[in-house]
Amino acid sequence: MEEPIAAEAEAIVRSLLDEWLTPFERECLACYLQRAVSAFGCDGHRFAKRYRDLVAPRATALERRLAASGGHCDCEFLMNAVEPARHLWVPPVPQRPAAIDDDGPDGDELDGLELLEPEPPDVMPRCAGVRLGSTQPCSNWATLWRPRWLPGRGWY
Ligand SMILES: [Zn+2]
Ligand SMILES: [Zn+2]
Repeated sequence: MEEPIAAEAEAIVRSLLDEWLTPFERECLACYLQRAVSAFGCDGHRFAKRYRDLVAPRATALERRLAASGGHCDCEFLMNAVEPARHLWVPPVPQRPAAIDDDGPDGDELDGLELLEPEPPDVMPRCAGVRLGSTQPCSNWATLWRPRWLPGRGWY
């Protein structure tokens, strides 16, 4: 009688997956994609479509919009269309090394400054939340994409 147990285990795994792959309440598209793609890898617009279906069913042009912003798949969206907001970079604000005195940096004081070059965070904080039905990223993200005019094709 192993089969029922296997089937049961499979059902549990599937429901855990479903839970994992369901956007949190008010979770934005970017945070959701980041979470889903880092756990399951990229598979076209699989997760963007799922987000749309579950959260923003009226965003019928979502995939086209993502593609126009450089996101021809979920991971490209994360690479090309958004980046972690600057306040999350480490260090979060440009910090003046203790070695630099009040008359500004000069000479030796600048050595080692590159160690303080801010970097994007390894782990994104929990989503800051967006309006229900929105496909905009939350305040944890900066949008790299700006509308642009393509000759013969109009605004993208
Ligand atoms: Zn991809
Ligand atoms: Zn978010």
